[in-house]
Formats: sequence, C-alpha cells, structure tokens
Amino acid sequence: MISGGCFCGAVRYRVAGKLRDARSCHCSRCRKAFSAQASAYALVDTGEFSWVAGQDLLTTYTGKQGFGLQFCKCCGSTLTGLYDGRVHGVTLGCVDGDPDIEIGMHIYVGSKAAWEVLPLTESRAHFFSAAPLTK
Ligand SMILES: [Zn+2]
Ligand SMILES: [Zn+2]
Repeated sequence: MISGGCFCGAVRYRVAGKLRDARSCHCSRCRKAFSAQASAYALVDTGEFSWVAGQDLLTTYTGKQGFGLQFCKCCGSTLTGLYDGRVHGVTLGCVDGDPDIEIGMHIYVGSKAAWEVLPLTESRAHFFSAAPLTK
C-alpha cells in the first residue's frame, strides 16, 4: 500500500496498487505547474487511488487538453494529476517513503531551465523532447 499527502498534512491519499511509468519532465509548463526544475510524476490505476483525508481542501486546475492538477488549498502542495476529471497519477514529491519505483526517464531536457544543471552521474535515459513511442 502506497500512501501520500501534502506539506501541511491535511490531505492524505492511498494507492492500493503500484505506481507506474515514473518520469521527470523538464519542459517550461512543468516547471510552472510543479514550481520546480522539473516534474516528478508517476501513473496510477484510477480504481486503485483513494483519498483518505482532506478531500474538501483540494482545489483543481484543469488545462486546455483535459489534463488537470489538484492542490491542497492550505499549503499549496501539488498532489495528483487528473485526466478527464479522474486521478491519473501522483506527484512523487508527495508520496511517503519508498514507493518502490524510480524515475525511468527524463524528458524535454532540451527545454530545461538555464539555471538547471543536470547531474553528471545521471544514469537514466535523457530525451531532448518527448520520449520515443513504445508499444
Ligand atoms: Zn496541505
Ligand atoms: Zn513537461
């Protein structure tokens, strides 16, 4: 069982299954959305995700293409990503402990911030733009 929550602790969730496809995106939109050098995000099966506390404190931003993000109103942590109004994934920064997954790839590295220095020891795949399509 994977659990997570926001900075102030009011909002909590759990994931009954595993996280999938952890990735970090360095594009300019993710920098704004995650207030960081990149996003760190993993997918969940919608049916395995449930809120445990503080759901009334969530506020939602929905972008043009049906993707959205949910935040804690009290502390501003970005907790989940939505697609078509359903939880699609979680931000890795708000997951508790070790969720048994690692970031498998860095995408849109070609759009990284001028101030970001990529770790020289990084062993994961880096892609200048989107990841190549996989079957
Ligand atoms: Zn909070
Ligand atoms: Zn991005």
